[in-house]
Amino acid sequence: MHVLAVKKLNIENELRRAMDNNEFCLYLQPIISIKRNRIIGFESLLRWNNPERGLVSPEEFIPIAEETGLINEIGFWVLQESCRQIKQWNDKYPEHKSLYISVNLSPVQFLQKGLIEKIDSYLKSISFDTINLRLEITESILMENPDAAAQILRDLKSRNIRLYLDDFGTGYSSLSYVHNFPFDTIKIDRSFISKLTTGDEHVGMVKTIIAVARNFNMDILAEGVETKEQLLILEELGCYTIQGYYFSKPVTVLEAEKMLTDSLLYNC
Ligand code: C2E
Ligand code: CA
Ligand code: CA
Repeated sequence: MHVLAVKKLNIENELRRAMDNNEFCLYLQPIISIKRNRIIGFESLLRWNNPERGLVSPEEFIPIAEETGLINEIGFWVLQESCRQIKQWNDKYPEHKSLYISVNLSPVQFLQKGLIEKIDSYLKSISFDTINLRLEITESILMENPDAAAQILRDLKSRNIRLYLDDFGTGYSSLSYVHNFPFDTIKIDRSFISKLTTGDEHVGMVKTIIAVARNFNMDILAEGVETKEQLLILEELGCYTIQGYYFSKPVTVLEAEKMLTDSLLYNC
């Protein structure tokens, strides 16, 4: 336990230093509409470029940032940087004026006081059209603090920000429960997608999620799509918004811009 505590403290100190030294960077993963054969948005994924360890995965440091509260600062940086970048592309490339950015909000960050005012004030300062921002939230928030969560979600929604329910199916909530919250889109978790080709019952599961979501007027996005077979099944089930290694891994901002300017048409 002592070793663990020391390790955590070290990472916490390193994270503070990382903020000061600009060691964080964003990777972007394209979200593709297979109906339109094009990129319609990006998910923003945080990376830590550690001078000794190289690129560190968010799974290693986000839990510690959450525990220490540092996530508020880091997460807000992600939001600012993501919106600034997308706004630049919306303005620079008229054909991408509806390109959106999807930003992950951790539960700690989501429930912090004054979050909405901070978001408002930043978006206003860069004249960002809120319609091009998506916020990804996991269902754990809904279970732990349903009333507070519902209020925050309504406030965000009233600003035209679209709300995505991330990692759907990994927690305990049911679709009928989720329906009480104003989500626009459900992201079907990778664990469902990876099993799609292994048996009819898994196809049935995804089919049911899609049918119920549709019934509640929510869109569906499939994440973690890695193969053509998975893509074809999803298309047949009526899921047309796709994210995953099949199209592209998360890439640097430079590479992402190149994907946009190449007008890469995806062979879906
Ligand atoms: P997530 O929000 O579920 O993000 C999707 C993760 O799946 C990303 O991992 C992405 O690289 C990976 N992925 C995408 N497509 C595929 C695929 O086809 N196959 C496989 N095997 N993986 C795929 P990443 O970037 O390592 O991020 C891990 C998690 O860290 C994220 O899961 C999210 O929970 C968290 N995270 C990342 N950036 C941020 C951030 O800025 N703020 C917060 N609060 N959390 C973040
Ligand atoms: Ca996400
Ligand atoms: Ca996810």
